[in-house]
Amino acid sequence: MPSPVWHPYAHLKTQSPAPKVVGGEGPRFTLEGGESLLDATCSWWCMIHGYRHPRLVEAIQRQADELCHVMLGGLTHDPADRLARELVRITPEGLNHVFFSDSGSVGMEVAMKMAVQYHYLRGKPGKHRMLTLMKAYHGDTAGCMAVCDPEEGMHSLFSGFLPQHHFAPAPTASFEASEEEVTADLDALREVLEAHHEEIGALLMEPLLQAAGGLNMTSPHYLRGARALCEEFDVLLVFDEVATGFGRTGRLFAADHADVTPDIMVLSKGLTGGYLGHAATLATDRVHDAFIGDSELHAFMHGPTFMGNPLACRVALESLAVFEEDDYLGRIQRLNGVLCEELRDDAALADHPAVADVRVLGATAVIEVHDSTSLEGAAAFARQRGVWLRPFGRWLYTMPAYITGEDDMRRITGAMKDWFLSA
Ligand SMILES: *Cc1c(COP(=O)(O)O)cnc(C)c1O
Repeated sequence: MPSPVWHPYAHLKTQSPAPKVVGGEGPRFTLEGGESLLDATCSWWCMIHGYRHPRLVEAIQRQADELCHVMLGGLTHDPADRLARELVRITPEGLNHVFFSDSGSVGMEVAMKMAVQYHYLRGKPGKHRMLTLMKAYHGDTAGCMAVCDPEEGMHSLFSGFLPQHHFAPAPTASFEASEEEVTADLDALREVLEAHHEEIGALLMEPLLQAAGGLNMTSPHYLRGARALCEEFDVLLVFDEVATGFGRTGRLFAADHADVTPDIMVLSKGLTGGYLGHAATLATDRVHDAFIGDSELHAFMHGPTFMGNPLACRVALESLAVFEEDDYLGRIQRLNGVLCEELRDDAALADHPAVADVRVLGATAVIEVHDSTSLEGAAAFARQRGVWLRPFGRWLYTMPAYITGEDDMRRITGAMKDWFLSA
């Protein structure tokens, strides 16, 4: 009998049997049968320390020996308290309150509910819609699907089921763009805000890097401009740093490139180094303090069963300690150097007729093609070279674990390039 496991994003008729992973070490995982693959995606971008990191494994073991789980409703514990303090310390100045949940999607649902309730409690119940961007991806739950790109996103068949929000065009200025070059993108945001601000509670964005929507990159000036527009129109700014958080763009958080503090920020993928599912929604005093009041409507009515799970909090604390002690930002910079040299600056790759664009930011690189059919077979090609790639749509990308060595990084970029150049 075939396995009853129903795989995500899989076409049941054409999917090939999934290889079985039996273990992993550093940037590689091992398949049943002994094949070892260098993971160019660090498992949907979360395994930033790679597999079987001794300090992370030990942190889970020790915590398991003390306390595996207890509800956060009416109770607290040390790992949750310590992790919340650490997150306040390392995130942009002013994010002083932490609401835990169990996945990036739920972290975003929490952010959107907070924004709506914030305005409600301040006497503006009409500000109950979101403003989001084309090419956005914020998760797969119903609330999140409604703020993903409605056309290119994966959720168009659900449009009749989803609430309606407002969309602005995806930013087009590059990461390096000057302030003037960002004006048109900001004008497009302003236009939607001018027309609809009375019903817009929050502007949502994946700062600098729209990840699952096609690895679209933009400038820190765009974040600063968005911050100013949100002030002008009494709209909360929500940064979904689920993918960009913990170093992916080259700074600890994408917000750090722009020196911007959002009103709400969501973290998940890198939070526990991928070792357990968890998420955090951080809020400023302004947001938090709006919930201090006498009516029963002042309580924030949300509480995932596994929020603040002690195992997840403990391994997240260890992940942060390793990140700082082992100078991960320095490692990311070295990986970035290889990605720029091998991919961004490769003239033959840029000139290849199938290639539309090559972009690099921090420890992220993408080769965008004109037509998705030119990536058919790329994953199998890479696997023959010992590399696990998982292209989607028109994007062949890598987001490696930060412990990936330079030789292994070149092995990954080599597999990506050779797919185009060695044929
Ligand atoms: C992955 C992702 C999410 C959803 O996180 P899950 O843990 O898969 O629910 C939300 N936003 C962004 C930017 C993501 O990359």
